[in-house]
Amino acid sequence: MQSEQGAYQLYIDGQWVGNQSGKTFPVYDPSTEEVLADIVEAGAYEVDLAVQAARRAFDSGPWASSTPQSRARILFNLAAKVREQLTPLAEMETRNTGKPIVEGEGDIEAVAEVFEYYAGLATKIPGLVNPVSANALSLSLKEPIGVAGLIVPWNYPLLMAAWKLAPALAAGCTCVLKPAEQTPLTAMMLAQWFEEAGLPPGVVNIVNGFGESCGAPIVEHPLVDKIAFTGSTEVGKSIVKLAANTLKRVTLELGGKSPNIFFADADWEASIDGALFGIFINQGEVCSAGSRILVERSIYSKFVEAMAAKAKTIRLGAPMDRETRMGPVVSKDQYDRVSSYLAIGRGEARLASGGGRAVQFDKGYYIEPTIFYDVDNSARIAREEIFGPVAAVIPFDAEPDAVRIANDTPYGLAAAVWSRDIYKAFRVVKQLRAGIVWVNHMQPTCVEAPWGGYKQSGTGRELGPWGIEEYLETKQVHINLSEKPIGWY
Ligand code: ADP
Ligand code: MG
Repeated sequence: MQSEQGAYQLYIDGQWVGNQSGKTFPVYDPSTEEVLADIVEAGAYEVDLAVQAARRAFDSGPWASSTPQSRARILFNLAAKVREQLTPLAEMETRNTGKPIVEGEGDIEAVAEVFEYYAGLATKIPGLVNPVSANALSLSLKEPIGVAGLIVPWNYPLLMAAWKLAPALAAGCTCVLKPAEQTPLTAMMLAQWFEEAGLPPGVVNIVNGFGESCGAPIVEHPLVDKIAFTGSTEVGKSIVKLAANTLKRVTLELGGKSPNIFFADADWEASIDGALFGIFINQGEVCSAGSRILVERSIYSKFVEAMAAKAKTIRLGAPMDRETRMGPVVSKDQYDRVSSYLAIGRGEARLASGGGRAVQFDKGYYIEPTIFYDVDNSARIAREEIFGPVAAVIPFDAEPDAVRIANDTPYGLAAAVWSRDIYKAFRVVKQLRAGIVWVNHMQPTCVEAPWGGYKQSGTGRELGPWGIEEYLETKQVHINLSEKPIGWY
């Protein structure tokens, strides 16, 4: 997988290959700011090779005649390989993203679960007999969409790739995967085991490169049938526009500004914990981060104080240290972006904890877990996705007020409600315009349950049976049972 120059190559048609331009780009360890590896850069030319390979594998290659059973076995093989290699995969993920190793391990475990889930589901996609009134046997059959372009972000690199690869392969699609340019390494480790797992050449191709020069050509390519994208809302909108030229099927999992709502009757300790976990897990680099913390006014001051006191105890450190609970953010760009919001927040609200660089580290993109309070929901730090360890705490007066503030956002990915009153909690759940709503928890994600957003947080659903539907077409087959001619003319 590495060329003589030491750069990681592209994986196209079952081969590790170089590129036309000879260009490479570095990826970093964000805790040391050192270069971790060089990556061969793909542009439109390499994307075309990858798409052609995927097209051949789908149209005439072994994938065209693969059975659900054979695809299930391959996915189980991949899952087993991921479990066997959990430690090196988790270490690579942690080095490249900066996330704490205990989280990296959890991510890779979840990768194996996703492959296992869709391995099982591959053989359980039945068609239907439609109860038509004609003298006919009417069927609806499920068929793979074709070549799927999978474009993923850097916050959960291999897991986001697995959320797309596993259902796509189970459905019988072939794939061109583009990892985020910051974090391509674990996807390339996985590719090393494709052949051994039984994946024929061309079924999964991996191209590494940048959004405009490598992602956009996948979206534009006429031989790609479907795009599955996870990333920013801004790029999601550009993908929809570009995909319109060829009317590709598009699913999008985009940004959020998710409300985490605390009523006065909620369990106190669980609430403080849940508020912090909701925003600070994975350095806040989570699409469903509970970045707006809505707190009932009667407990508001005490809540802010308790959150701030506990936030100061969050253990920042070297990502590979097992005691570390927060690492650096992923890149210099992200560090600058989050830092700019810290400056904006200081002008818009009051600071309860954090607010700057974690000065105990000479190197690395470390940012203190930051809590702003007395935030107005119209403030930029309450409206714009920061994608870093920055919480905006907003007081509310009563249930309708909480719902109004919670829904007053262009986003609709996730939300959480904390209360001991199940009637109140469920009233709120029903009014929240979000694709995922937790009660007395925030962030647990189960492979069996649908994941996706309302409003500008996306379209389509990943995971569970919903996830595979997004890679399937429905074909109606009408089998005439009457032997008589039509007799119209
Ligand atoms: P971020 O800004 O946090 O990096 P992005 O939404 O830009 O998030 O990136 C998510 C993924 O989308 C990455 O793989 C990135 O390379 C890709 N991407 C970025 N811009 C485009 C684009 N114009 N077309 C297709 N893919 C893109
Ligand atoms: Mg971007």
